[in-house]
Amino acid sequence: MNLKDYIAKVDNYPEEGIIFRDITPLMANGEAFKEATQQIVNYAKELGADVVVGPEARGFIVGCPVAYALEIGFVPVRKKGKLPREIIEVDYSLEYGSNTLTMHKDALIPGQKVLITDDLLATGGTIKATIDLVEALGGVVVGCAFLIELEDLNGRDKIAGYDIKTLMTY
Ligand code: IMP
Repeated sequence: MNLKDYIAKVDNYPEEGIIFRDITPLMANGEAFKEATQQIVNYAKELGADVVVGPEARGFIVGCPVAYALEIGFVPVRKKGKLPREIIEVDYSLEYGSNTLTMHKDALIPGQKVLITDDLLATGGTIKATIDLVEALGGVVVGCAFLIELEDLNGRDKIAGYDIKTLMTY
């Protein structure tokens, strides 16, 4: 099965000149979603991950079935204002302006081996902020898994030294 058959290309979204890769056809196809999930499950097993962490919202879609299959927990990373209890936060810059991501302060046990999941690696800003949060809580990032990597944006450079798995590259 070629997973790329289930990724839709959307020109000029969300802005003129941007090519958006839409993963919703992959999610909507049971076989393709299972295949993608299984590849990340195998990776997580190799790493011996004992918890999955993912940023909202598509990091949940990728990470939750992996956590379920491995019978390990899933911990959400959310935008500021969404988590109800005591949080830690990290700011990171976007092309225009900045964003703040948060985690509950007690979300991880120090020393836990963390697999981070998201749908897509672009500039690496989101994954870097997520790594910073996990490490601030004492988690050990053993790997980062993405459905898609946009190679031209060099996101890998921002997280050099971490193990990265991507299922498709453009
Ligand atoms: P980065 O922080 O620049 O690496 O951007 C990655 C984040 O933006 C991920 O959480 C993605 O969900 C989202 N993103 C950026 N470009 C795309 C795209 O083409 N398709 C889907 N999501 C994207």
